[in-house]
Amino acid sequence: MVWATWLADAARMTGYPVIEVSGWERRGSSGGRALNAVEGVVLHHTAGAKTGNYPSYNVVLKGRTGLSGPLSQLGLARDGSIYVFGAGRANHAGESFWAGFSNLNGYFIGIEAESVGYGQDWTQAQKDAYPRLVAAILHYIRRNGGRAGGHREVGLPKGRKTDPAGFNMNEVRSLVDSYLANPSAIRRGGAVQVEPDRIFKPGERVLRNTVPQLSGPDVEVVQKWAGAKADGFYGPNTAKLVADKQRSAGLEADGVAGPKTWEYILSRGDELDMDRTELKNAVREVLAEDGVKKSFAETLLEYPVKSEYDGTIHPFKRFVSLTSKRVIDLLQRK
Ligand SMILES: [Zn+2]
Repeated sequence: MVWATWLADAARMTGYPVIEVSGWERRGSSGGRALNAVEGVVLHHTAGAKTGNYPSYNVVLKGRTGLSGPLSQLGLARDGSIYVFGAGRANHAGESFWAGFSNLNGYFIGIEAESVGYGQDWTQAQKDAYPRLVAAILHYIRRNGGRAGGHREVGLPKGRKTDPAGFNMNEVRSLVDSYLANPSAIRRGGAVQVEPDRIFKPGERVLRNTVPQLSGPDVEVVQKWAGAKADGFYGPNTAKLVADKQRSAGLEADGVAGPKTWEYILSRGDELDMDRTELKNAVREVLAEDGVKKSFAETLLEYPVKSEYDGTIHPFKRFVSLTSKRVIDLLQRK
């Protein structure tokens, strides 16, 4: 039994942003099953919503009625970002056969790439990132392009599946083999355009110093904790200050905000002691004025309050202030 805990490192070989969903190292389907071995990769499309960067996030992570999540170990978003959901088994292939293996869920890594599923909507980033990601995985397990199958090729009975629609699998395999012959070519060139539309709750993903840098309000929470400048980008300076803070807290000083560090940060708090309705209304008022996304408002409202930020302002308000000083003004006026 194996846990593919190298998947995030492999994904980072591509040069695209990698989002490690908290708990992924021990997440497997059917309540946490490991893989039998890792022998190859199956490519899928999500058949998800038309808009958004990775609208299938929840279903891929959690599964659906009758099918436990994760539905794949990896997700490929429209901007090329790679989600890492699990290191154990995932329910992606169903009844299947490829390269001498049956029931591939025990042996093959699944990638669910975001697409409505007619083969027309792949972004340039996805077209570029998909074969690189497949090559990176096969490079890690020392297998060749022949171990990459499209779901429509591996699914049984034949004709059951169409994914990944729009990708010619023979072309993908030959491109993958060319990357494998020269692994330094797996990494994409140039700058990466990132258009994250997902706001991560504090603790939802692992934060570390990567290129490109991870960003968002969850980064600001860690930066506040570590005494770093709260600019919302997890760079080398933040990682260094996090390591210092971890050392003094008796945590492993690796500069990475993983499950243990998040648990430490998020467990140091008091309960919300103010009227939630009042706060909600204030937040909504300001966010509506600013035209800020609703998902962000929800994130703010669900965030558990921490006394780490003890001061004249209530801790929760302090967190809100990271984003909008005007929320504080509103609350204090009342
Ligand atoms: Zn599929």
